[in-house]
Amino acid sequence: MSDKEFSLYEEEEKIINKANEFIDPSNESDLEEVRRQFSELLGNYKKLFKQSKRLIRMSDKMEAELAITKVELEKYSKKLKVQATTDPLTGLANRRKITELLEEGLNEIANNSKDNINIIMLDIDFFKKVNDTYGHPMGDEVIKVISNHMQDAIGKEGIVGRFGGEEFLTIFYNEDIKYVYKLADEIREEIKQKRIGFEEKKISVTVSMGIASSSESLNIGEILDIADKRLYEAKESGRNKVIFN
Ligand code: GH3
Ligand code: MG
Ligand code: MG
Repeated sequence: MSDKEFSLYEEEEKIINKANEFIDPSNESDLEEVRRQFSELLGNYKKLFKQSKRLIRMSDKMEAELAITKVELEKYSKKLKVQATTDPLTGLANRRKITELLEEGLNEIANNSKDNINIIMLDIDFFKKVNDTYGHPMGDEVIKVISNHMQDAIGKEGIVGRFGGEEFLTIFYNEDIKYVYKLADEIREEIKQKRIGFEEKKISVTVSMGIASSSESLNIGEILDIADKRLYEAKESGRNKVIFN
């Protein structure tokens, strides 16, 4: 109990005692005295009532403020959650999120609630040269354009994430590997044809990809390694290639 609340109770008790005294049949005060006591009692009662009203107003205000704070906290926590799982440059799922999704998907295959997963590991070719020749902002623009293109091309059939600097990981659920390969190769060709611009300059880049399937391993480390190995093979054999077996 707060001090304020305690003093309110004290006041109330005083008034009640006084009123009891006042109505006590053995009270033999004369009319003048009764009037004086009654008037004093009324004064105290009014004061107490005013205090109570003030307390109610205060508590209503605090309740309203608390409700606003709660809404703000919920908004902030949602924003934090999005920030923790989203790559700021591209808006794609970040490495943590896409890895988590892959792990979940592989577990679902192990539990028979999904049939298969295919993944594409994509890396931009000679990207360092882009940065070195045209500057970091051009490099960022290339990453954004490729990210948008992949999202558009893959649509609802898969999920794209930014796995590293200029490396993207895509997960396909329950799609035929031949279909995934065909789509990956189309994306590779479309990216090659693109003219990517930043401040008057226009450039073209190519990408290399490695595809791996859950039929080869349900272990996240292993399936990523397989995709990575094939990506490396694509690079070694001349880049601008998709390798899937
Ligand atoms: P390779 O064909 O073998 O892939 O050659 P590469 O030059 O692309 O080599 P690598 O994949 O190792 O290059 C990655 C480079 O990407 C290095 C790093 O400076 C750059 N990079 C990483 N993240 C970003 C980014 O967010 N923006 C920009 N502009 N560059 C980035
Ligand atoms: Mg690269
Ligand atoms: Mg790389």
